[in-house]
Amino acid sequence: MPKPKPPVQPGERITLPITGQSHTGDGVGKYKGFTVFVPLAIAGEQVAARVSRVKKTYAHARLEEVIQVSPHRVDPLCPVFAQCGGCQLQHIAYPAQLESKRRQVVDAFARIGGLEEVTILPVLGMEEPWSYRNKAQVPVGGGKGKVEAGFYAAGSHQIIPFDRCLIQQPENDRTIQQVKEWIRELDIPPYDEKKHRGCLRHVMVRTGIHTQEVMVVLVTNGPELPHRKQLVAGLRERVPGLTSLIQNIQPHRTNVVLGKESRVLWGEPVIHDRIGHVRFAISPHSFFQVNPVQTEVLYEQVRRMAALTGEEIVIDAYCGIGTIGLYLAKEAARVLGVESIPQAVEDARHNAELNGIAHASFEAGSAEEVMPRWAREGIRPDVIIVDPPRKGCAPELLDAAVRMSPDRLVYVSCNPATLARDAAYLKERGYTNRQVQPVDMFPHTSHVECVTVFRREWGENREV
Ligand code: SAH
Repeated sequence: MPKPKPPVQPGERITLPITGQSHTGDGVGKYKGFTVFVPLAIAGEQVAARVSRVKKTYAHARLEEVIQVSPHRVDPLCPVFAQCGGCQLQHIAYPAQLESKRRQVVDAFARIGGLEEVTILPVLGMEEPWSYRNKAQVPVGGGKGKVEAGFYAAGSHQIIPFDRCLIQQPENDRTIQQVKEWIRELDIPPYDEKKHRGCLRHVMVRTGIHTQEVMVVLVTNGPELPHRKQLVAGLRERVPGLTSLIQNIQPHRTNVVLGKESRVLWGEPVIHDRIGHVRFAISPHSFFQVNPVQTEVLYEQVRRMAALTGEEIVIDAYCGIGTIGLYLAKEAARVLGVESIPQAVEDARHNAELNGIAHASFEAGSAEEVMPRWAREGIRPDVIIVDPPRKGCAPELLDAAVRMSPDRLVYVSCNPATLARDAAYLKERGYTNRQVQPVDMFPHTSHVECVTVFRREWGENREV
């Protein structure tokens, strides 16, 4: 039967009640039974909105008036909140943001997983939910003599300049400002993405919060870097804590920020930071959690759920630079990590050495290929930890995990929808979870991180 025609037209003004928050943070409501997404509207509000786009099963509308205001509505602290695409929830009071994130997980488990019986615990938030990011990455643009660096406006490549980003550690903002001023003075040509010409594409800054070591990465369109000597000398003078100054070359027409090749312009190839008691070396390409305070909160939850006694064999799948496995290593007999980016695996090995951890090893490869092989080779871990990207775990990996028959499988997830899907898959194979602990790694954005532990329902091994 053909679907009825959408009851709204682009340009139409409608009023509707907002009943929920989408996974991107938009308000969601129904108008004549038809789903409408309204950015900046809050669940519980009655709003008037102008329809902007209509699809077969839903529409988007721009908020024009809040008729009934949510008690959780607050004035966003950041002056460019409405234009910048970085944060989505600054207009919602922090406790309500946390509850809205919890609801998302509740919905995913009920709707996608069909797992209403799983308890979703209150989100562990930050006491001070600002200035948390240890990494800033800004595009460079504008014309000759008018270099600009800032954020892309939501859904576009228009650069919005800024001086202070409130979720960023102030040191990073200061460093970005210093780099910006100096490249302006030297008139380093910014990259023009339409013409694919010019030099400087992005500036990336990372700070180790425990070490105060600073890395600056200048991403250029090719190997040339005009005024290189002066640039280096000026940044050494101006950027406090500068430890590593890197040129990264990204010659392709792409949205991917970093290219393959990095050159040290001055200083070290890496900076260091700590998570808890473990030291890590971080290179430009390394995935390193951006909220160091909450990373410890998250990893402590992983530690609690893994409940190690020093006897266990632990697999850390999707291990990045080895962070979780190394964090747990002193309570394990052996740690095996797998990760698809070879550079990250090298970092993981180096990090094991840096911490004098000899019983952890790391293998490069895709987890869905390596884990089945480990299962065939007879590796029998007591605990498996997975921390996949947004798309979740491949079925091959979950099948291999079940075949290995661990006592516990700890799942760290950045996407409740794929976590719920995988939870349903694991349940069919005899591994169930009772509770999910969300942790707010990214206050004021719509991202939700979760950790949960699956346990075998039977005592016996089971082949699938
Ligand atoms: N556990 C780490 C990293 C988690 S991010 C931490 O807490 O820091 C997810 C990681 O999975 C990334 O490092 C990414 O490179 C890796 N990855 C993505 N797909 C993969 C796959 N199919 N097999 C193995 N690793 C993969």
